[in-house]
Amino acid sequence: MISSIPKWLADLFGSSLRPNVKVLETHYISSHIKKIRFQGDISKWSFQIGYANVIRVTETEYRNYTVAYHDKKKGIFDIIFHIHGNGVGSQYMDTLKANDELFVSLPRGKKFYEPNVQQQFIFGDETSLGLVCSLLPLLKKHKHQFHFYFELDEANKSVPALLDLENYTVFQKNGSFRNEKWINDLPVFQTTDWKEARFILTGNVKSVQTFRKVLKHRRTGKISSQGYWLEGKKGL
Ligand SMILES: Cc1cc2nc3c(=O)[nH]c(=O)nc-3n(C[C@H](O)[C@H](O)[C@H](O)COP(=O)(O)OP(=O)(O)OC[C@H]3O[C@@H](n4cnc5c(N)ncnc54)[C@H](O)[C@@H]3O)c2cc1C
Repeated sequence: MISSIPKWLADLFGSSLRPNVKVLETHYISSHIKKIRFQGDISKWSFQIGYANVIRVTETEYRNYTVAYHDKKKGIFDIIFHIHGNGVGSQYMDTLKANDELFVSLPRGKKFYEPNVQQQFIFGDETSLGLVCSLLPLLKKHKHQFHFYFELDEANKSVPALLDLENYTVFQKNGSFRNEKWINDLPVFQTTDWKEARFILTGNVKSVQTFRKVLKHRRTGKISSQGYWLEGKKGL
């Protein structure tokens, strides 16, 4: 994924990258998690679980974000942003307020939802909250057995409850998900219940890679994974 394009190229694409949506309202769920509702013509957008939208965050920089909720009839959609403060995307989202206009691409990417798999296990962090919010209604509607594992900063540990999520466990973001032995000892592996589950792994690249390695070693489940961010790397 290209996270920045030269200004001359952006100018060349000119009108197609011009603001196409407006901010309707913003809300901080915690000091570092901001939910923004946008309005625009989304009638032709295809919303699939796992897809992401590219948002123009400066003249030349673009970042990926996931739609958490949408209503095509009303032309509205929500995105949940991790305001981590380390990058231009996060800083830009922090400044956004009602009536601001910006460019958001149509959704595209990896499809994560497999309706035929009864058990679904999802791992992620703050950047995965939108994915989880979009997935939960389907998991409930189709009566899947499901569970979410989140690694979250202390400041965000109440966010899953505030988003009305269910069947989740919150772990402190302290590097534990980089430790294969520690992952092996997690409750999910102390039973055979999840042996045939689909594991959807998102969030920090290193955590995703370590969790994936453990699943592979244990020959547990089917895996879909996508790292959403990596220390020291701009845009993924
Ligand atoms: C498919 C996909 C879907 C995504 N959906 C969402 C979403 O719905 N909500 C969301 O908030 N993010 C989401 N992300 C992650 C987001 O695109 C990245 O976090 C992105 O790097 C943020 O851009 P930035 O300009 O703030 O930081 P960058 O300029 O990309 O990075 C600058 C520095 O910040 C660090 N950094 C980046 N992200 C984080 C973070 N989360 N926590 C701590 N440090 C960080 C980097 O390691 C780097 O050192 C998604 C990513 C992908 C690939």
